[in-house]
Amino acid sequence: MSRRKKKFSCGHKGYGQECHKCAQAAAEKENKQQQKHQWEAAFAHDPIDLTALPKNVVLKARHILRGLQDRQDYREFRGKRLRHNRFVISIPVTRNYRLLCRDRGNFLIPEAVISHEDYNVCKPGDS
Ligand SMILES: [Zn+2]
Repeated sequence: MSRRKKKFSCGHKGYGQECHKCAQAAAEKENKQQQKHQWEAAFAHDPIDLTALPKNVVLKARHILRGLQDRQDYREFRGKRLRHNRFVISIPVTRNYRLLCRDRGNFLIPEAVISHEDYNVCKPGDS
């Protein structure tokens, strides 16, 4: 019994009842859409707005935010107090991004993740 390739209506050739290439492509597309939705939905759970940031910065920032929520010390994330405002703590996220937190005594309030350029321009905490 020979299995013969047939041509599907989509133009692909293959075996079976339906085109596997198209079925696989459709499944991948759906998977990607789901991941995109999950990615977008996750921002709703962040204590600060991370939507404008690159993906790797978002993931690292979340890691730090979770750590701080779990009462981890900011110094464990190499955070430092700003020289010109001791109530603001700057935690490196990546080489180019910093997470700024406000010191409220015995807890920290995350304020924003900003790029290194913004950080040098606006000098947060001066206002
Ligand atoms: Zn096809």
